[in-house]
Amino acid sequence: MVLSKIVTRTDTPIDCTFASRYVQTAPPKYKMPENSIPKEAAYQIINDELMLDGNPRLNLASFVTTWMEPECDKLIMDSINKNYVDMDEYPVTTELQNRCVNMIANLFNAPLGDGDTAVGVGTVGSSEAIMLAGLAFKRKWQNKMKQLGKPCDKPNIVTGANVQVCWEKFARYFEVELKEVKLSEGYYVMDPEKAVEMVDENTICVAAILGSTLNGEFEDVKRLNDLLVEKNKETGWDTPIHVDAASGGFIAPFLYPELEWDFRLPLVKSINVSGHKYGLVYAGIGWVIWRNKEDLPEELIFHINYLGADQPTFTLNFSKGSSQIIAQYYQLIRLGFEGYRNIMENCQENALVLKAGLEKTGRFNIVSKDEGVPLVAFSLKDNSRHTEFEVSDMLRRSGWIVPAYTMPPNAQHVTVLRVVIREDFSRTLAERLVNDIEKVLVELDSFPSKITQKLIATEEEHHKAVVKKTAIEVQREVTNAWRKMIADRKKTNGVC
Ligand SMILES: *Cc1c(COP(=O)(O)O)cnc(C)c1O
Repeated sequence: MVLSKIVTRTDTPIDCTFASRYVQTAPPKYKMPENSIPKEAAYQIINDELMLDGNPRLNLASFVTTWMEPECDKLIMDSINKNYVDMDEYPVTTELQNRCVNMIANLFNAPLGDGDTAVGVGTVGSSEAIMLAGLAFKRKWQNKMKQLGKPCDKPNIVTGANVQVCWEKFARYFEVELKEVKLSEGYYVMDPEKAVEMVDENTICVAAILGSTLNGEFEDVKRLNDLLVEKNKETGWDTPIHVDAASGGFIAPFLYPELEWDFRLPLVKSINVSGHKYGLVYAGIGWVIWRNKEDLPEELIFHINYLGADQPTFTLNFSKGSSQIIAQYYQLIRLGFEGYRNIMENCQENALVLKAGLEKTGRFNIVSKDEGVPLVAFSLKDNSRHTEFEVSDMLRRSGWIVPAYTMPPNAQHVTVLRVVIREDFSRTLAERLVNDIEKVLVELDSFPSKITQKLIATEEEHHKAVVKKTAIEVQREVTNAWRKMIADRKKTNGVC
C-alpha cells in the first residue's frame, strides 16, 4: 500500500513533510503523536532510523549472541506472546526451564544424587542471577549472625577490581560493601591470596570470575577454594564462594573439562552463567544454580501453585517472555555436548588466528590469555603518538565495533582494545579485521599525533619546563589526556 499523505479523521491536512511516500509528517519524538499512522509507515520510519545502528554481527564489543539458526528463530517468534510467569497456562515452558536448570547444574558438576532435582532458576541475564545469588548469601549470613547474637548490618563481598558493573549494582542496591582486590600491571584478575586476606567475619562470599570481562582470563577458583578452606578452618567461619561464570560457564566445561572451578570445589555454593553469551541464545537469558537446597534460604522463595503442583520461584521480576528459555532448551538439545564443544573450539581457533595476525604487525601487546574466554585483548606497544582509542575510532569507519577502555585500579594507565570471538565471527572475518587494523595503523602513522600536540601545548603553558619523564609517566599522561578528550566529547565505550 502506498499513501501519499495522511488524512486525519477531521481531515486536517498535515503540515510538515517527512521524506517518504507513506507519510508527510514527522511524528513527534518525545510526545505520543495525536493520531495514528498506517502500519507500513510506522514500519518504514522505524526501520529507516534503525539503519543507523551498528551491525550486530560486526559488534565485536559484546559477548552476547547475535546469530541463531532459523529453526530457533521460528520457535522464538512462535512463543513471543507467551508470558513466562503464567506457569499454569504454559506448563510445558516451565518444564523446559526446569530441564535447562538441571542440564546446566549437571554441566557444572552439582552434587546431585539419582532422582535429585537441581536448584536454580532462569533469569533475564547474569545480572539478575547475581542479584539473586547475592541476596541468598546475604540472607544466609544474616541468619547465621543473628543466631550467634552478632551484628549483621555490615556485610561485604570480596572480589577483584575487575568485577563486572552488575556487582557494583548489587552492592549499592542491596547495601553490601564491595571489597575489591586491586589489580596491577600485567595481572588483571583477582589474586586469590590477597582476596583471602581481605575476608573477615562479615564477608558473605568471595566472588570469583570465570572469564574476566576485561581480558577473558579465568581466575584461579581452585586456589581460592583451597586458601579459603584453610582460613575457614583457622577462624571457624564458613565463608563461601560464588563463581561469576557469565562468559566462561559455557566455555570451561567444553574446552577445559579438567579445570576445577565449579561445584567440584566444596566452597562453591552458587554459579551464574549468561545463556545469552556462550550459551548461544539472543539477549535476555541467564541462569543461577545453587549447590543444593540449603544454600538458598527458604524465606526467599515464593511458591506459586501450578496445575495443583507447587512451583517455587525466586526472581526479581514477575512477567517476562518465554522465548529465550525455549531457545536455550533448543540449543542444549540441538547441539548437545559435542555441538557446544565444536563451536567453542572453533571460536578459540579464530581467536588464535586473530592473535597471530595482531602479533605479526609487531605493534601490539596481547593482554588476553590463550586459556580463557575466546577473545583477544591487546594494547599498543607504543601509544605515545596514537592511542588505542584512535584505533577503535578508525575501525568504526570500516564498520567494526572494537571497544577501547582503561583497566581498573591499579592498572588504570593501561588501555586495551578487545575483540570478542563469537560463533558467528568467522575466520574470514578475523583475517579481514587484521587487514583493516593494519590499514588503520598505516593511516595513523601518517597523521600528526593529537596527543603530543596537546601535551606540548600544556607543557608550554607550564613555563616551558622540560621534565624528563619515565616511560610509565608518559603512558599515564597520554592515557589521561586521551581520556579527557573522550570525556569532553561525551563518548562512552561500553563493554559487556
Ligand atoms: C556479562 C557479564 C555480566 C553481566 O551479565 P548479563 O548477562 O549481561 O547481565 C556479569 N559478569 C561478567 C563476568 C560478565 O561477563
